[in-house]
Amino acid sequence: MTHRRRLLLSACAAGLGMGLLLGGACSREESGSSDVPAEALSSVNDKCPMCKKAVNVDVATQMFDESEVGFCSDECSGQWSRLEDRRFGHDVQQSFLDAVLSDN
Ligand SMILES: [Zn+2]
Repeated sequence: MTHRRRLLLSACAAGLGMGLLLGGACSREESGSSDVPAEALSSVNDKCPMCKKAVNVDVATQMFDESEVGFCSDECSGQWSRLEDRRFGHDVQQSFLDAVLSDN
């Protein structure tokens, strides 16, 4: 009855060397989610404020007031930057950010 479980455990043990290298626990893929892992994000948002796609951790974040804002792409990051030059741009940024933060 515990055969399957034992297999899993030994697979875990075998992966431990690699797991140590990667700094992560084994069998992480069991959660099976394709979403961006929340712990990888340094930004306050997990969705792009410009287009509401998932934030890409490879895209540089920008500081907005005291918050770190993440984006899905450099393109959206650039659009966000250009808002700052506009009149009331800060308010627009705030409303975009509020929209994705309250979307959860
Ligand atoms: Zn985007």
